[in-house]
Amino acid sequence: GGPRRCRRLEAEAARAVLAATDTLLFDCDGVLWRGEAAVSGAAAALGRLAAAGKRLCYVTNNSSRTRAAYTEKLRRLGFPPAETRNVFGSAYCAARYLRQALPPGAAAYVLGSPALAAELEAVGIPHLGPGPAALPGPAPADWAQAPLDPAVRAVLVGFDEHFSYAKLCQALRYLLRGGTDCLLVGTNRDNRLPLEGGAAIPGTGCLVKAVETAAQREAFIVGKPNRYMFDCVASEFNIDPARTIMVGDRLDTDILMGNSCGLTTLLTLTGVSTLDEVRGHQDSDCPTRQSLVPDYYVDSISDLLSALGE
Ligand code: PLP
Ligand code: CA
Repeated sequence: GGPRRCRRLEAEAARAVLAATDTLLFDCDGVLWRGEAAVSGAAAALGRLAAAGKRLCYVTNNSSRTRAAYTEKLRRLGFPPAETRNVFGSAYCAARYLRQALPPGAAAYVLGSPALAAELEAVGIPHLGPGPAALPGPAPADWAQAPLDPAVRAVLVGFDEHFSYAKLCQALRYLLRGGTDCLLVGTNRDNRLPLEGGAAIPGTGCLVKAVETAAQREAFIVGKPNRYMFDCVASEFNIDPARTIMVGDRLDTDILMGNSCGLTTLLTLTGVSTLDEVRGHQDSDCPTRQSLVPDYYVDSISDLLSALGE
């Protein structure tokens, strides 16, 4: 009911909000760290939350690491010890999705990282990438003669720094052969990954778009803002959405997912989105833009430390 208003989470309100919270879901890049550097004060704030008995989960659209690798990164950067089962990366969630959606024994053709392959292996899904040896000739038209694995029933697109025209060809061939019997799944749609100093590199969304354009169909997206990622958390833990906070740095992924799942949403300004963007959405009466407005914002999650009394 009514337009959403975003308020700064001051210490007093933070105490009340946290007292009514059992679980916090943290986006990773832009909230806990930027690249390899922890956000200042973030580890101490999470340590305090863990000590206060809160359940901490980690939800990241980055498909280039396994959940075990995130657990290790959290440890390395001084965050409170996390268990692998509290980490929900889009590679793990994609593997989970395929395990549930594919018939037994079906395989996936994968455009992605070794981490994505590892998560598929962990849930027992056979997978294959292209391998240059599979290309039967020098010209793209020859590639349409390359052998297809009869077991493939899904094309999975994640972050793939070796994305190529040959892989795009093979993905299309599987999708054309299988029709709607071949699933098309993307880990996430982030179009740009910001680097320090205003630079950026293309994100997985660009690769998903390429395959969708070739196949003339839309992919199922596992990551934020799709609620599938939240459903993964909720199926592994007993989650009351009304007592859960989603903490993120992006309005169009983290905050949109949190709002659509009925969570309390908290934007931190250490990452991609700005307070000006929040104000723009807030002042518009378009419902789509309203769904991007977080309940609260902080400059950094280290601000939660003072709310918790150091
Ligand atoms: N995808 C890739 C490949 C990334 O490197 C990143 C951030 O580093 C992301 C997505 C966004 O991750 P998050 O959801 O943790 O902000
Ligand atoms: Ca982020």
